[in-house]
Amino acid sequence: MITRFAPSPTGPLHLGHAYSAIIAHDMARAAQGTFLLRIDDLDQSRARPEWEAQIFDDLHWLGLEWPTPVRRESEHHGEYHAALDRLWNMGLLYPCTCTRRDIREALSAPQEGLPDAPRTGPDGLVYPGTCRTVPTGPRPEHATLRLNMGEACSRVQADTLQFEETGSDHAGRICLSTASMIHGIGDVVLARKDMGAAYHLAVVVDDAAQGVTHVTRGADLFEATRIHVLLQSLLALPKPIYHHHKLIRDEAGKRLAKRDDARAIATYREEGLSPDDIRRMVGL
Ligand code: GLU
Ligand code: ZN
Repeated sequence: MITRFAPSPTGPLHLGHAYSAIIAHDMARAAQGTFLLRIDDLDQSRARPEWEAQIFDDLHWLGLEWPTPVRRESEHHGEYHAALDRLWNMGLLYPCTCTRRDIREALSAPQEGLPDAPRTGPDGLVYPGTCRTVPTGPRPEHATLRLNMGEACSRVQADTLQFEETGSDHAGRICLSTASMIHGIGDVVLARKDMGAAYHLAVVVDDAAQGVTHVTRGADLFEATRIHVLLQSLLALPKPIYHHHKLIRDEAGKRLAKRDDARAIATYREEGLSPDDIRRMVGL
């Protein structure tokens, strides 16, 4: 068994991250497997070495161990570009120049055959398809590229669009409906002009490259997993087992955010709490 925790070095780890990391770590340890730490630093405009150092420090303090060197996404663009080329050559990507505002405006204009209100998916508003074209020529670099969801769904065997979930809320085999992916997710962004590969692409390439067998992460990513399973089918990558865990909330029931410094592990450490206190606070 190989599990992983893949934080972005864009702020302090808080209780929710600690919970996620401990779950992945303990699951691997119980199976005498390996727990990996991966640094999701694709967004170089927000990633900081200080935050990365703090992540290592906090996780060590919590008693977690992982093999080194850790994988940093920013060091693997070649692999992401190869996957993008493959999808591009399959005719499944197209460049998009829409701003967020363009998308809002396109969605507010009456659309023939689409009487329903704008929908939101895992990445926000479902893209109206303004720029959708059949791509020709080489893949443009430094362009925002979207996945043609309808076309992509038609290229995979329906029975590959499923995954095994072991999280308590939805445990079992989850079968994906292509209709709901086209309507409820739509043409997601897989490459960004400024960042290169987008999260959805990088995460499936990384999990496959590292041989991750069990992906443990928050329930907020449950819907996004449908995108990842589709990409795994398109790119002929193995499918890990997924475990989406509950989210840690504050006393008001609100999800913890990165900027929620009050619940940063570092703050609790300064206040003299122990790793066992942290485990108790998140119910482990
Ligand atoms: N960096 C991502 C996050 O923190 C990783 C998500 C994942 O585990 O796939 O949300
Ligand atoms: Zn567009």
